[in-house]
Amino acid sequence: MKPFIHFRTAGLIIPMLLISACCIQPVNAQKKSGKTSNDPLSKEKIEAAITEAYNLYKNDTEGKNADYIKELANVDPNIFGIALITADGKIYTMGDVSSMVSIQSVSKVFTMAKVIEEQGHQAIQDKIGVDATGMRFNSIVAVELQKGKEINPLVNPGAIASSSLISGQDSVAKWKNILDIQSAFAGRPLTVNWPVYVSEAGDNLRNQAIAHLLLAYNRMYFDPVQSTDLYTKQCAINVNAKDLATMAATLANGGVNPVTKMKVVSPETVMYTLPVMATAGLYDDSGIWFYNSGLPAKSGVGGGLLAVCPGKFGIAVVSPPLDAAGNSVKAQKSIRYIVEKLQVNPYLIQPK
Ligand code: GLN
Repeated sequence: MKPFIHFRTAGLIIPMLLISACCIQPVNAQKKSGKTSNDPLSKEKIEAAITEAYNLYKNDTEGKNADYIKELANVDPNIFGIALITADGKIYTMGDVSSMVSIQSVSKVFTMAKVIEEQGHQAIQDKIGVDATGMRFNSIVAVELQKGKEINPLVNPGAIASSSLISGQDSVAKWKNILDIQSAFAGRPLTVNWPVYVSEAGDNLRNQAIAHLLLAYNRMYFDPVQSTDLYTKQCAINVNAKDLATMAATLANGGVNPVTKMKVVSPETVMYTLPVMATAGLYDDSGIWFYNSGLPAKSGVGGGLLAVCPGKFGIAVVSPPLDAAGNSVKAQKSIRYIVEKLQVNPYLIQPK
């Protein structure tokens, strides 16, 4: 019987297989540890990208602090910090990442995520809506047009409705739930900026009107005055760029905080949270943002903006001057620059 491989041939093939196995192994091992020179998320590439963005935009004077909440006009407009945290917990920062600003609308993401976690994703769709309004974040017309439907939890009406839906017997219990979820995402106990809260709470008739209009359409699920107050307090929570990047990185990592390793929400909750950010995270400029970055994101009138690169990293910038839609100018420019530089737009697909 003839052997399947002649011994002399086998004598050549086996060493060749061994050599190629040796060559292939380190490449695979490198890929796993993320250290190949082509890795867009290598330490060198990330540090270069955030440094370049910082230097490019640090003297940009476009935009102006929000002033319809009086206290926000007094925040230092020169605060400018960039933080990027990878899904495996590596932290990169540039500039001022310790100055605090109020989280404002960025908080809406995490209260929405908690409601999804507690009641399931269908509840958000049925009781609030998941459609972009295409209007300003505090538009009353957006509520009136659709009789309280077809809004979303990332504009004021939907966010006040989220506060009304969060579990808790009374507003004290609901507040604890809200502060706990925001803190778990940030990986540390967050606190309220009381001057900002008092400033907005004393001049909040528009949000109160929105809450009452929702109630009139049976789309408010707790007392409207208390729900608006919960929402206002939530918006006044203090954060810095690093906190916001940790919150974004927790979403990027499927709901587990990559810094504290704590499971904050389920991967399914993240799956339903990111699309709302993609369609409505930057108010009426959400389309322009998503078209140019491909990243689900959320801004706030305090000057914070965070974006999520799913499975890869969370990024955040704090810089108070805003454009006409209410989004931080430097934050938008910096994150767009970094996404392009690192080539991490999820829709940039290399053909097979
Ligand atoms: N607290 C602010 C408000 O209700 C939040 C708005 C925002 O960040 N876009 O107007």
